[in-house]
Amino acid sequence: MTKIGLEIHCQLTNLESKLFCSCKANYREFEINENICPICMGLPGSLPRLNQEAVKKATIIAMALNCTTPDKIAFFRKNYFYPDLPKNFQITQLNIYGDTSIGGTGSVTIGDKKIRITRIQLEEDPGRLIYEGSSSKNLITLVDYNRAGTPLVEIVTEPDFESPKQVRKFLNILSDLLENLGVSDPSLDGAMRADANVSIEGGKKVEIKNIGSFHDLEKAVHFEITRQESLHSRDIQIIQETRHWDDKRKITVSSRSKEEDLDYRYFLEGDIPWIIIDPEIQKELKSKMPESISSKKERYISKFNIPAQVADVLSSDKFYSDLFEESHTKDNAKEIANIITTDLMGLVDTREKREESKITATHLRDLSDSIQSGKISRNSAKNALYEIVKTGKDLSQVISKLDLGNVSNESELSEIIQEVISEEPQAVKEAKSNPQTINYLVGKVMQKTKGKADPKLTLDLLKKQIE
Ligand SMILES: [Zn+2]
Repeated sequence: MTKIGLEIHCQLTNLESKLFCSCKANYREFEINENICPICMGLPGSLPRLNQEAVKKATIIAMALNCTTPDKIAFFRKNYFYPDLPKNFQITQLNIYGDTSIGGTGSVTIGDKKIRITRIQLEEDPGRLIYEGSSSKNLITLVDYNRAGTPLVEIVTEPDFESPKQVRKFLNILSDLLENLGVSDPSLDGAMRADANVSIEGGKKVEIKNIGSFHDLEKAVHFEITRQESLHSRDIQIIQETRHWDDKRKITVSSRSKEEDLDYRYFLEGDIPWIIIDPEIQKELKSKMPESISSKKERYISKFNIPAQVADVLSSDKFYSDLFEESHTKDNAKEIANIITTDLMGLVDTREKREESKITATHLRDLSDSIQSGKISRNSAKNALYEIVKTGKDLSQVISKLDLGNVSNESELSEIIQEVISEEPQAVKEAKSNPQTINYLVGKVMQKTKGKADPKLTLDLLKKQIE
């Protein structure tokens, strides 16, 4: 049986400062090597100060993943030399003196599959290496320490996944969950990264590192399973090793033999004492946990009668569910859910578009009111939405600017219907013998009015006029 386990690194992007100093956690807005200080550069004599908010945010993640939360935690030094690590060790966590990491064992259920969480660690991110030129012929490697020391949560799973598809599904669920908790913005470049370990029946465990995106992770795992099965079928031994994902060639390549924990010479970080986590703080964090995605979904279905599929899409994305929460009432909930999932999601489908979008809860409320009162058609609402997202103008302004108001004037509509009747004698004949085909004529009227005819009135008048 194929076994896949994951180590997911997730940046706590919503924090103010780094994990052990007051440099900004949002390193992305700085020029290279401007977001640094003696602490995150590991200069002699500097001492780390633990960011209390990071401990709280990581605890919330542990709680949401049903992990145990210990009453005291410890930090360790993981020693290794690499240019992106200015101290020559990373401050991280390890469960060698009992469960002293921020989260203990837990689990996440995907459908009927339970994925066990081994532990959750709070640790610092290293800096970033920037290669000049191609990766095979690097003449120069530059290093940017702005990211060094930013707060990272590592989520380690048991090897419970059996297919690359399951892995991808889990990562999507996890990324929605972290966004919903308000601890991270997974759409930021590099905010979520993962390593995978893969083994097939009778083979050794192979670790894959350096995978840049979830999409590539699925591919890398798929490639690795195929590679191992091919070796196995030819009676070639699969060795325990670390392999890197080469995203240009879309293959894994052997990089070095796998380090054991011993190689890192872990020892307690003497500059940070054991941290006692007050049960009162844990209780408070638990009580302030945002509503889970699954409970939101259930509420949308049971309270507003929103179809399960729509409720699923709406609840799993914080941006849209926040808009929905702000704009809906009991009477318009279904209409607003419909506008968001069928039209808005298509218009605002990337991070950049969301940031630029001018849509507000008031716009959504006005749109649904206008549809429900027959002032504009659904089709016109879609055109209005496009303009609103772009300009942020009031709906009334948009309706008059684009002339989107419904044609609900009876005589005006009757004239148009008469035109259609004379142009479509065959369809009229069919509609008389088979009333269901009348929709074709309604469609023609809609075409002539550019979708602005009041559909109910059109149907009533059509029926009368073809009799
Ligand atoms: Zn710093």
